[in-house]
Amino acid sequence: MTTVAPRPGPPLWLLAELTYRCPLHCVFCFNPVDFAQQENELGTEDWLRVLREGRELGAVQCGLSGGEPLLRDDLEIIIAEAARLGYYTNLLTSGVGLTAQRAAALKAAGLDHVQLSFQDSTREMNDFLSHTKTFELKNRVAKIIKDQGWPMVLNVVIHRMNIDHIDRIIEMAHEMGAEYLELANTQYYSWAFVNRDQLLPTHEQLRHAEEVTDAWRKRLGERMRIFFVAPDYHEGKAKKCVNGWGRMFLTVAPDGTALPCHTAKMLPGLEFPNVNAHSLREIWFDSEGFNRYRGTGWMKEPCASCDQREQDLGGCRCQAYLLAQDAAAADPVCAKSPDHHRVVEAVAHAAARDPAALTEHPLVFRDPANSRRLSAAFVTPHA
Ligand code: SF4
Ligand code: SF4
Repeated sequence: MTTVAPRPGPPLWLLAELTYRCPLHCVFCFNPVDFAQQENELGTEDWLRVLREGRELGAVQCGLSGGEPLLRDDLEIIIAEAARLGYYTNLLTSGVGLTAQRAAALKAAGLDHVQLSFQDSTREMNDFLSHTKTFELKNRVAKIIKDQGWPMVLNVVIHRMNIDHIDRIIEMAHEMGAEYLELANTQYYSWAFVNRDQLLPTHEQLRHAEEVTDAWRKRLGERMRIFFVAPDYHEGKAKKCVNGWGRMFLTVAPDGTALPCHTAKMLPGLEFPNVNAHSLREIWFDSEGFNRYRGTGWMKEPCASCDQREQDLGGCRCQAYLLAQDAAAADPVCAKSPDHHRVVEAVAHAAARDPAALTEHPLVFRDPANSRRLSAAFVTPHA
């Protein structure tokens, strides 16, 4: 039996994707594959209005991401307004552009927290995966973050090409004085979906990585908190994606499109409103885009009668679309999904690849040329 979604509470998290521009070219980038066709960016005054409307709605956390948000010259102005409004502010950055001078300006503007991404613990793999020479720079930025007294939060996206370095990655984070380390197993959307065959780890690699992580947790205790974000392809279980569609997260893309999650724009047949045409209040409560998959009323079988439906809300709509070509289907990572075999086959297919050939196989780097090529004909493997 399905239920009608109750009127939602406020969006507690406002994620401002300030730009899709980025100097890095990560093979697992979460930005849309067609980002090169989305060059419009909201101006400063538009962002300040979005912040005010978000706060009036009840948002308390404000994430500033991209692309690389430091490419926006008005970042200090945006952060100062967010701080004045009482948000807890979090900058998600590759570190490129975070000089000591800029860090001091951001601190003075009221920035609370910086999350710095690394691609690996080795210069070779960090620079290969991002297609830039940024390893040394990131090390310098880590020190700048500590010097400003911000909590040190490192984020490393984990996949087949760096998972065997997990011991050294954790050691590196500890040596840098990180308070938090997020080991985020790759989620296979956007560019990671394009490169899925090369990035999916094996079950054995994952088990080993979890054991190593647990050993470090015991050793370090509260000195550094390590989050190991579980990979849903290997678990046979759906996750409550973004804590439920339209329940907590409100993302605003660079051009002002409001989204329940940063990849939802890929879903066909769904209109997402723009903050230049509607207030955030209208968008959050009344738009078709935010209401379509709220609650459980939209579900079909097997989710509609499943006793887990309130716990995981049927998993991720984008994953259902990518793997089953039906955004209202059960997330195929769930073992009860009729499309689960696609996930099992993808993991087996990746595991059968010769690891020695991984770096030779043509990975697709996130750059404007590849974006234009792929957005002309987006290919879904094993579709
Ligand atoms: S994942 Fe890499 S390429 Fe994508 S926005 Fe972040 S730093 Fe830039
Ligand atoms: S069938 Fe649907 S509701 Fe049940 S566990 Fe799987 S994804 Fe969740």
